[in-house]
Amino acid sequence: MSAATIKEISLADRLRRRIAAEGPIRVCDFMDACNADALGGYYMSRQPIGAEGDFITAPEVSQIFGELLGLWCVAVWQSMGAPTSVTVAELGPGRGTLLRDAIRAWRASPQFLQNVSVALVETSPTLRQRQTETLAGVPVPLQWHASVNELTDGPLIVLANEFIDALPVRQLIRRGETWHERRVALDRNGGFIFVEGEAVAEEHLPPLAAPAGDGEILETRAAVASLIAELSARAERAPLAALFIDYGHVESACGDTLQAVQRHRYADPLESPGDADLSAHVDFADLKREAEAQGLVAYGPLPQGEFLLKLGLGARRDRLQQGATAEQMAAVISGAARLADPRQMGIVLKVLALTSGALPPPPPF
Ligand code: SAH
Repeated sequence: MSAATIKEISLADRLRRRIAAEGPIRVCDFMDACNADALGGYYMSRQPIGAEGDFITAPEVSQIFGELLGLWCVAVWQSMGAPTSVTVAELGPGRGTLLRDAIRAWRASPQFLQNVSVALVETSPTLRQRQTETLAGVPVPLQWHASVNELTDGPLIVLANEFIDALPVRQLIRRGETWHERRVALDRNGGFIFVEGEAVAEEHLPPLAAPAGDGEILETRAAVASLIAELSARAERAPLAALFIDYGHVESACGDTLQAVQRHRYADPLESPGDADLSAHVDFADLKREAEAQGLVAYGPLPQGEFLLKLGLGARRDRLQQGATAEQMAAVISGAARLADPRQMGIVLKVLALTSGALPPPPPF
């Protein structure tokens, strides 16, 4: 097929052809195509984040989020001995809002501002464009990369908000004593359906908090291991600190968390490939185990609310209200509450920090 022909065929139709030719495909391959296909992938061609998009993230809720993470970067840099060159890399920077707010907070630390450069790890051309617009005129050098493997060596601070949950998960189903691959097939009408595939050899399955029952689903993410391997290799050469904030669970456990979100509502993950955001919870226990096995030191995960309150959310909220109009005040208060409230983003989102061995615990751990 020529490129022109491929472009005319929808992602759904290309997936149908692929399944017809290869047989049912793994859940991780389906998710990867839906989110990251170069032509029809969800993130590749649209701007999904914000009130007018499909979902809202913490940096879009309140500027306090990015500002506190910015101050975190400065504190961590100081704990590294204030090196004269440091990279702050954000993985999946979305609209660039977190970085814009972090850079605003850096203005209070001129020495940091002089020594820092920012790396944006982003695969989507549409979002790269948006990030360029948001960050126009900021007083720090910016560089875009497709993967952490491309970053230059040296002291590194990594921020990743709702990045890992968008990376593909593999799903396995328990039958008796074995795990089976969960796959996506076609029904008679060409609709996508889940099917149970072949038995798989048990290789890198995490130790579960409770034994898996018949029919239960386990999710694993190959991309996490390679990301951690890359970070730990860098941590051996230069100081490194990373912050991962995401939806997830604290213990490794069974459960089907694959979800589709479209226009701020849950949708069927198989219904419209490339038109809804597919995500799945992060197994923080596995992330932590993997990091520790590779020689990094892990802290947390802490609930997002506790993390932000300990970093000074209350003081920042009060400061922003000074000289604000009544309307601005209401927005500051509701934004801060939404970030930290246990019934909103305060508990479901969790924060894990990783550092290279020689660094002290990062705030507020
Ligand atoms: N951190 C932002 C956006 C979260 S959405 C926020 O909090 O608002 C996920 C982001 O990760 C998007 O920017 C998406 O384009 C990017 N992304 C998804 N998969 C990626 C990958 N494999 N490599 C780099 N970026 C990726």
